[in-house]
Amino acid sequence: MTDLHLHLDGSLPIKTIIKLARLQNITLPSEDEKTLKKYLTVSPSAQSLNDYLKCFDLPLELLQSCGAVELSVYELICELTRQGIIYSEIRFAPQLHTRRGCTQRKIIEAAIKGLEKAERDFNTKSNLILCAMRGGSDEDNLLTVRLAAEYLNCGVCALDLAGAEALYKTELYSGVFALAKQLDIPFTIHAGEADGAQSVKAAVDFGARRIGHGVAAVNDVELMYEVKRKNITIECCTTSNLQTRAVASLSQHPIKEFFRLGINVTVNTDNMTVSDTTIDKELSILSEIIPDISRETLMRNAINAAFLSEKEKAELLEKISNK
Ligand SMILES: [Zn+2]
Repeated sequence: MTDLHLHLDGSLPIKTIIKLARLQNITLPSEDEKTLKKYLTVSPSAQSLNDYLKCFDLPLELLQSCGAVELSVYELICELTRQGIIYSEIRFAPQLHTRRGCTQRKIIEAAIKGLEKAERDFNTKSNLILCAMRGGSDEDNLLTVRLAAEYLNCGVCALDLAGAEALYKTELYSGVFALAKQLDIPFTIHAGEADGAQSVKAAVDFGARRIGHGVAAVNDVELMYEVKRKNITIECCTTSNLQTRAVASLSQHPIKEFFRLGINVTVNTDNMTVSDTTIDKELSILSEIIPDISRETLMRNAINAAFLSEKEKAELLEKISNK
């Protein structure tokens, strides 16, 4: 399988978290894996994306050095490979890792180092997506864009916009994506998760090739047709959508409607640790909503939507057809 939408800080294996804390002399609420997992996984009583985002405080605290970022990317790819993921795009916001003086550039270089080492050791393929942040300063966000251009095709494959969508509207970030377009960096945008269809429309108008979640697009038929016509992919993360209350229940999840209309949909985890999920879990949930969608269709959708060259996509497609 593939995973095109997973956040580094929200997907750290528990063992990696314990290792990072020990290496840096940071005290965890518990070193017992089961107990620790409770601190890291969203509570069933979470009411919104804002509640969900609180679960990132602890992992982010552990990821404030180059060594920690390199190790975490490496160990996450190790875990993904173990789960049978043949291609992943791991995202993170470099500006959130600079609290102890690392620069965005150093953090990106560390992540690339971890990625390259993992690709060699596990004979797998991954890429990094750099997130600009809702609520981040223009200066930090524009720096992320420029660095994405510099490291594009050298471990970085695209840009994203993440963070509290209800508090900071997508429309506020036109300058970030105008620069991305000018520098020829492809991008996805989290939209329609905690805000309405107009947020997805703004992302589409900016030129997003993919939309993270896109749940609210279901309320605007014209917009769904535009998404389909422009061959924009929706990155679905079903468990996460239930936890953030982006959807009220599985049966109401719009992926069914997107699929029915012929929109390219993909299945992703969003945050393996915070959401306590895996691609396999997401696949079995999805098969309840859309019984006739196959694993192979979803994998092909994802490879077609990946931020890869046509040659790299062809290689992956060949890899899955040989299986
Ligand atoms: Zn996300």
